Amino acid sequence: MDPATIRGKLLAWYRRSRRPLPWRGTRDPYRIWISEVMLQQTRVAAVLPYYERFLARFPDVAALASAPEPELLAAWSGLGYYSRARNLQRAARQIVARGGFPRDYDSIRALPGVGAYTAAAIASIAFGLPRAVLDGNVARVLARLANDHGDIRSGAVRRRLEESARALLDARRPGDFNQALMELGATVCLPRAPRCESCPLNAHCLARQENTAGRLPVSSGRAPAIREERALAVVRGPRGLLLRQRGAGEARLAGFWELPEASELGNPALTRKLGEFRHSIVNRNYAISVWEATLRRAPRGFRWVAERELERLPLSTAARKALRLAILPV
Ligand code: SF4
Repeated sequence: MDPATIRGKLLAWYRRSRRPLPWRGTRDPYRIWISEVMLQQTRVAAVLPYYERFLARFPDVAALASAPEPELLAAWSGLGYYSRARNLQRAARQIVARGGFPRDYDSIRALPGVGAYTAAAIASIAFGLPRAVLDGNVARVLARLANDHGDIRSGAVRRRLEESARALLDARRPGDFNQALMELGATVCLPRAPRCESCPLNAHCLARQENTAGRLPVSSGRAPAIREERALAVVRGPRGLLLRQRGAGEARLAGFWELPEASELGNPALTRKLGEFRHSIVNRNYAISVWEATLRRAPRGFRWVAERELERLPLSTAARKALRLAILPV
């Protein structure tokens, strides 16, 4: 593999083929940081409707640092993994206290919620620092280019891929190079069906030559997801909708509002099925049915909330999806 040829082909392809995403074309570390944190564990298509709205509401670090938590969580509501939003605010407060966004890798990496990948992405894209990123997309491309059959979950293979990413990085244009490699993994070197015929690196790819691309990278995999069925109730009363706020001490989604499970309401009259949807949290896949229900009194721990207040509340993603089936403004 000749790194210079690969860099040249990859960057030329990136200039021609990159998707026009709203966080591209900026070197503002704040905007890049927000996009990278939103994209952790979340697909691009799911992030798009949130990104501009979030920035309109919190246009800079100071606005994010001083936002009331319910407002912050409401803006994040639907993206999931809410510790990301809380860490963003903790980091924003540190940035304000230190007088500006850190400009070196180690200080960026030290911010709450910023791991090696995110720090390298911010350092290279915003500040042009020669830091190579290694996310799932990049690991797949690199394992295939080298026809590496090692398990990408093993530390040794991970270190080998990090080393290849460093060796391949274009130190003069590290931000574009990192984004190009990630873009190739996201749009061409796809997990199940790589589109090798339209890949700018196909002449250099050992997996392509050996016809092994579809089997790479090798991964020992995760435990299979657990499937569960749940039933949520949409209960309307004279003073609004029945909701519960999760307590500060709860392990997940502390402070968020959610709908009652039908089983929590004793024996409610479930009058009509509104629909169903699927929802995943970590390794659990839920099949959730949503029911209209009637109830005279709010059970312990629940409150009636006026429908006009819903937009301002941090709702759990499952509650939001369920309320949309009930055609409520969330
Ligand atoms: S040739 Fe195929 S397997 Fe190799 S990097 Fe390109 S898309 Fe991936």
